[in-house]
Amino acid sequence: MSKIDVLLGLQWGDEGKGKVVDVLTPNYQLVARFQGGPNAGHTLVFEDRKHVLHTVPSGIFRSSAKNLIGNGVVIDPIVLQKELRTLHDNGVDTKNRLMISEKAHLILPTHRMLDAASEKAKGKDKIGSTLKGIGPAYMDKTGRNGLRIGDTQHATFLEKYEALKKKHIQLLKAYDVIPDNSFVEEENAWFAAIDSIKELPLVSGEYYIHQCLQKQQRILAEGAQGSLLDIDFGTYPYVTSSNTTCAGACTGLGLPPSAIGNVIGIFKAYCTRVGSGPFPTELHDEIGNSIREKGKEFGSTTGRARRCGWLDLPALKFACMINGITELIMMKSDVLGGIPKINVCTAYNIEGRLQDTLPYQFENQKVEPIYKELDGWGSLDQVKYFRDLPASLQQYIRLIEDYVQVPVTLVSTGPGREQTLFR
Ligand code: GDP
Repeated sequence: MSKIDVLLGLQWGDEGKGKVVDVLTPNYQLVARFQGGPNAGHTLVFEDRKHVLHTVPSGIFRSSAKNLIGNGVVIDPIVLQKELRTLHDNGVDTKNRLMISEKAHLILPTHRMLDAASEKAKGKDKIGSTLKGIGPAYMDKTGRNGLRIGDTQHATFLEKYEALKKKHIQLLKAYDVIPDNSFVEEENAWFAAIDSIKELPLVSGEYYIHQCLQKQQRILAEGAQGSLLDIDFGTYPYVTSSNTTCAGACTGLGLPPSAIGNVIGIFKAYCTRVGSGPFPTELHDEIGNSIREKGKEFGSTTGRARRCGWLDLPALKFACMINGITELIMMKSDVLGGIPKINVCTAYNIEGRLQDTLPYQFENQKVEPIYKELDGWGSLDQVKYFRDLPASLQQYIRLIEDYVQVPVTLVSTGPGREQTLFR
């Protein structure tokens, strides 16, 4: 049997996974998304066009690979339908390249309403949800109330839908929310979207993937968001509703841990975070602003400005440990180009104690990052090979490798496919 490589983000998401999956897909026959919902927006840029994916795996642009939306993903049919239309308009043959696991759960229109109502009720403690209904959909999954896409094939689907909707409307009442007239329209659009995505094959993802393994096919499991947003190991409660870490690939696709081969960790040369939650190395100055502008750090799904800061090595090392990362890919090193001195966090001073491990929580205590200062580098526009990277950037990479004890095998110097330097 072959093994599955897992590719995931090691920070708070938006590391550039989409670009890397697209670049690596020619090596794989199947790309499978294992968790998350349509809040993840993977942006890929090639042939002078920008493509944004929310639910569809990033291998979709290469005709050589099939793509699977795994059981661990939650699907909003309206978002998926729009995504399929855009892909179709761009000449991408989704019908023959994309499958959905029948066990993937559905996001209902009322899940979105519940998300908004619950976030509003949290007031100043809001967690920064993207309000796509993802949290409530996962709650129904673990609450054993959820609707799965496979249910759409059965006569009891409508009955199950109505029962869940009724429960949601009861819950919404507790938040003083009553669906208005626009809800009927939304519901109609939702059912129409369900009909239209039926053109895609619904499969038993777990059997399909095991058959691929038996045929010695190469498979890449693609994560969404990042390890520091993992429901168990992220900066709780400012996290997402699924396991974004490597274990999520097992439950989100039906894989035994022994089937996992390489675990590829993607990180940016700096850190960003969307929404609320702790971010020890956040920059509130001109450098932070320039990283945001140069790195175009605005959400691809929500347009929200991302918070920016220096690379946090204790957090990166933690993510490598939890995931068993075997190789690292560093993205967006070009964005730091031109900054004379680069800081990298090597430890935290927490209320006078120095530590290089992540605390239980960052809140309610004084956390000061301890930085090592390095020389910056200039433009990387002309660099075509890893060995030609500026000496100061090579030193930065060595520092990271020494700290986390995992090799950096690829450095990305721009959004384009060709701006990818293999070591
Ligand atoms: P993902 O969700 O992890 O795929 O990340 P996003 O798509 O939210 O964000 C990555 C953004 O950075 C996209 O707009 C990419 O086109 C862009 N990008 C990826 N790699 C690089 C890089 O090395 N340099 C620059 N400047 N942009 C990059």
